[in-house]
Amino acid sequence: MKRTTEELIQSDLQHVWHPCSQMKDYELLKPAVIERGQGVWLYDRDGKAYLDIVSSWWCNLLGHCNPGISKAIQQQLDQLEHVIFANFTHEPAITLCEQLLKILPAGLTRFNFSDNGSAAVECALKMSFQYQNQTGHPEKTRFFCLSDGYHGETIGALSVGTMDLYAKLYQPMLMDTIRIEAPDCYRCPYGQNRDTCQTPCFEKAEQAFAQYASQCCAMIVEPLLQGSAGMRIYPAQYLQKLRKLCDQYDVLLIADEIATGFGRTGKMFAFDHAGVSPDIMCLSKGLTGGYLPMAITVTTEQVYDAFYADYNEGKAFLHSHTYSGNPLGCAAALAVQAQLQDGTILQQAAKRAAYLTQRLQEALGQHPHIGEIRHIGLIHAMELVVDRETKEGYDSSLRMGYQIYNKALEKGLLLRPLGNVLYFNPPLIINEQEIDQAVAWCKEAVEEVLGN
Ligand SMILES: *Cc1c(COP(=O)(O)O)cnc(C)c1O
Repeated sequence: MKRTTEELIQSDLQHVWHPCSQMKDYELLKPAVIERGQGVWLYDRDGKAYLDIVSSWWCNLLGHCNPGISKAIQQQLDQLEHVIFANFTHEPAITLCEQLLKILPAGLTRFNFSDNGSAAVECALKMSFQYQNQTGHPEKTRFFCLSDGYHGETIGALSVGTMDLYAKLYQPMLMDTIRIEAPDCYRCPYGQNRDTCQTPCFEKAEQAFAQYASQCCAMIVEPLLQGSAGMRIYPAQYLQKLRKLCDQYDVLLIADEIATGFGRTGKMFAFDHAGVSPDIMCLSKGLTGGYLPMAITVTTEQVYDAFYADYNEGKAFLHSHTYSGNPLGCAAALAVQAQLQDGTILQQAAKRAAYLTQRLQEALGQHPHIGEIRHIGLIHAMELVVDRETKEGYDSSLRMGYQIYNKALEKGLLLRPLGNVLYFNPPLIINEQEIDQAVAWCKEAVEEVLGN
């Protein structure tokens, strides 16, 4: 017998501990029971539609129930669902490496598979530490990271993450990392503009490197876009300078492209805007189109070679995850690559991005409580402020973003905020009509909470 939606919700509330949620909130705002998805839309059991403007936490790249991806997974499922990846291999993983090699920044040639973004970051941290250890620098044991960075939830990833909201409580459990004040282009302390500046804020990195680089094995960054911090966008020049600085001090540069990879910023990878390569890159989220949990940590021949030796030298990277190289994930990722290959989707997305910028500006650009509408690729963020002049944000206890989220959800827009920042990060295949709908609902929700 089919259970009612109400019965399912009651059972959910009794058993499920949802991610990143105060469960008490669910007493007022019940979870939506989603039954199916199609393109940018999700449908609940009662047939209500939700426009997934956040790509289900940034991972859905090419729409829900994308026929090409579904078919690839089904075909793989009939062949091989999983196999141990030590000493065993399979064609989907091999082909995937070959395909990614064609689109990755130059020099990234060695692929280490895992199953989620945080795991890819952990892998990158251990890899850099061990690289330095095995190339004559055992004293390089610490990490540089940017303030307000986010790299995942495991203990290593949290250690290089610097958002108090997620990391502060756990401080006694975390590694002692070196935090460099990140660019803050909306509230730039140097009074500059991100489109024209010469990144004077980079002096913070120079100072930190001068003092601590001899102790540090690597620097990790979210390139161009600090996602969880509120879609904070900074200039590509910062990455170019960072590349030089890392070379100068023998510090590896780790790019966390988990959120920015695969066209999200308008180019295939955020590092492509800078025209330089990192030493290690972490990929997940859009990698499988948001279908299956998979991640890859990619590195250079130089890093790889530091681990390559006779077994008894003890230099191997003894790091593993049970689901490394899962064939279903590889099949999904290959299907994503097949669809991105001819560039049409990225070209379309660039047009839609310009359209979205224009529509959001028209709808909310003059709103007294929207301080800035910033964008990179299809990602657009709106910063809620008490006052546009002072740029003062709302007190977090007011939960302004969350209130707007509630209103938007009633209408059918999944506008999950980041504190005082509302954002759109839709699947790349969103069309103009869907953009119009999302902007209209967003405007209504904002005005219901903040007036007009
Ligand atoms: C989501 C995210 C992660 C963590 O990935 P999970 O799969 O959630 O562990 C790490 N870094 C960035 C930049 C992310 O956006």
